[in-house]
Amino acid sequence: MNMLDDLYQEVLLEHKKRPRNCGRLQCVHRCAAGHNPLCGDSISVQLAESGDVVTDIAFEGQGCAICIASASLMTEAVKGRPLAEVRQLSAAMHELLTREAPLDDGEQDRLGKLAALQGVRRFPSRIKCAMLGWCALDECLKGGAATITTDPREAGHASLAA
Ligand code: ZN
Repeated sequence: MNMLDDLYQEVLLEHKKRPRNCGRLQCVHRCAAGHNPLCGDSISVQLAESGDVVTDIAFEGQGCAICIASASLMTEAVKGRPLAEVRQLSAAMHELLTREAPLDDGEQDRLGKLAALQGVRRFPSRIKCAMLGWCALDECLKGGAATITTDPREAGHASLAA
């Protein structure tokens, strides 16, 4: 196991055991739900903003360890950030989870703990689990109260791009 594998295990287990920002917000400006029928993960994300900054974010739902840990990491990374940065971060995470090339040092620094999620690429069937929270976040940022699904057959819903 290399260092990143260790970090992956450690960060995931820790966030699964003690998810951050799990629950509901008092004041919700944006929300979206995500569903991954391949695994049975189902979570919703609520977001509060002031000016152009995400002042608070929470998620709730049911999911496997990777789904919950990734959503927990997502809320931790996004809280307190300007919306523009949140969009960039989400795009970086989609890339991290889908591309082949390893991160360079600069990227690893920028993503911090989130870089651990690239360990999930070794388990292709779990990538959508890790993406779910981020995809729900994207839907929040688009402003819709939509339900997303990873199942492309469910027409009428936005689906996770393969
Ligand atoms: Zn899952």
